[in-house]
Amino acid sequence: MKKSTEMSKDSTNIKVDDVKLYINGEFVNAQAQATFENSNPFTNEVNNLVAEGRKEDIDKAVIAAKQAFKSGPWGSMKMEERMVYINRIADLIDEEVEEIASLESIDTGLPIAQTRKMIARAAENFRFYSRMVQSKLHGESYPVDNEFINYTIYKPLGVVGLITPWNAPFMLETWKVAPALATGNTVILKPAELSPLTANKLAEVMDKAGLPKGVFNVVHGYGETAGAALVAHPDVEAISFTGETTTGTIIIKNSADTLKKTSMELGGKSPLIVFDDADVERALDAAVWGIFSFNGERCTANSRVFLHKNIKDQFIEALKERVGNIKIGDPMDPTTQFGPLIDKEHFKKVSEYIELAKQEGCEVIQGVVPEGVKAGNFVPPTLLLNATNDMRVCQEEIFGPVMAVIEFESEEQVIAAANDVKYGLAGYVWTNDIKRGHRVAQAVEAGMLWVNSQNVRDLRIPFGGMKSSGIGREGGHYAIFEFYTEPKVIHIAIGDHHI
Ligand code: NAD
Repeated sequence: MKKSTEMSKDSTNIKVDDVKLYINGEFVNAQAQATFENSNPFTNEVNNLVAEGRKEDIDKAVIAAKQAFKSGPWGSMKMEERMVYINRIADLIDEEVEEIASLESIDTGLPIAQTRKMIARAAENFRFYSRMVQSKLHGESYPVDNEFINYTIYKPLGVVGLITPWNAPFMLETWKVAPALATGNTVILKPAELSPLTANKLAEVMDKAGLPKGVFNVVHGYGETAGAALVAHPDVEAISFTGETTTGTIIIKNSADTLKKTSMELGGKSPLIVFDDADVERALDAAVWGIFSFNGERCTANSRVFLHKNIKDQFIEALKERVGNIKIGDPMDPTTQFGPLIDKEHFKKVSEYIELAKQEGCEVIQGVVPEGVKAGNFVPPTLLLNATNDMRVCQEEIFGPVMAVIEFESEEQVIAAANDVKYGLAGYVWTNDIKRGHRVAQAVEAGMLWVNSQNVRDLRIPFGGMKSSGIGREGGHYAIFEFYTEPKVIHIAIGDHHI
């Protein structure tokens, strides 16, 4: 099969094919023949053109997906048969890890050493849901004396819409696609307009896996047009969304008219708390990785780091040294640890927040972008020292490589400050006092808390946030029971009573 891109060892001179929509098993142009440009964040040159889907393309995809659900047959296919496809998808992703990782790095600026791991993990999402659905997706029975028996079955919803962001595209798309397909739904994926390349690759994988036509569809395009049309469509039963909190609220409002089920994975401003009895070296590793990997564009980033006053100076000195040593460069170089931000607009937003931090009274310490590295959208790893939790830079999601450092004195004080924010996605606690670790983890208002570790994630656990960070959970059995299927109860009279 022809490769989408001719790979080279650096991000310059890479030729990427134009991207089409994938509807009803075919790669097609948008009906309006519209396209938009997709740029490389390292060179800021145009990578390729992307078909710009709009309402009429969403309508066409929904017809195909509905047909595939009803008579594809996908929803009513034997489970084992469906799982053959799901496992084939995983194998095909494994075979193409290198190419998919390269496309992801060219498209997003994420270092290739990091995208390789993410793509391998994405294949696991399919294998995991194949196992999970086969072993766990069964109903319950409720006998009532000797008169009745009730039992439940879990049915797929039908056509589901998946709307995803640009920060870890392939990984986040497969978190949704794998459980949606494994449970028997048919899918319309609307990827972020800034990162279309690997969603296109996912369509190629599905095509190669021989999925029945219409089971999986990709409509590229803008949120306000393609995304909004998917949300408003009466034949789309549910929307699983990952993105900004403001977009999530718009989607919830727009989905109300058609009474859709929605799942919301939204923004964060997560605290990392280091007590004075912590293993400082490990806490440092975690703090640096948690905000400066993935170029700082990660929802669970520890953007607020609370340091106990007794270890603050020592910790900051070590942070400065580490920030200076992060290798900044071409995302396609396997030794690069840190690449450019996704686009010029995001670069501007993050840079403006750093200016704001100065105005708010922070001392700003930054790594250095080496001479010879392309212009790109580089904001180097940045520390905001002398921050206080009430500053805007500590309250608003910057979604870049910017760590605010805040001093604290007592457990009570740090819990109050950690919770004094509208978000509640993740949190990290570093202490060697086991009781305190549990206490603080239970008190911090967030969907996911790690004690003495950073973001290590088992696919079985619920992933998601509270407060303005989201509604619902992805992952594990939560995705299959609480989102992608619906319980249906069947009542049987087995005795003499019928009313
Ligand atoms: P975004 O909200 O701007 O866009 C996300 C997606 O929504 C895109 O596909 C976009 O086209 C679409 N969209 C925009 N407006 C829409 C509308 N009116 N109707 C339907 N769809 C619409 O987010 P982004 O900038 O792509 O991603 C960054 C954000 O995602 C950050 O806030 C980050 O914290 C969050 N995020 C959260 C998680 C999590 O699991 N909680 C994971 C990754 C990213």
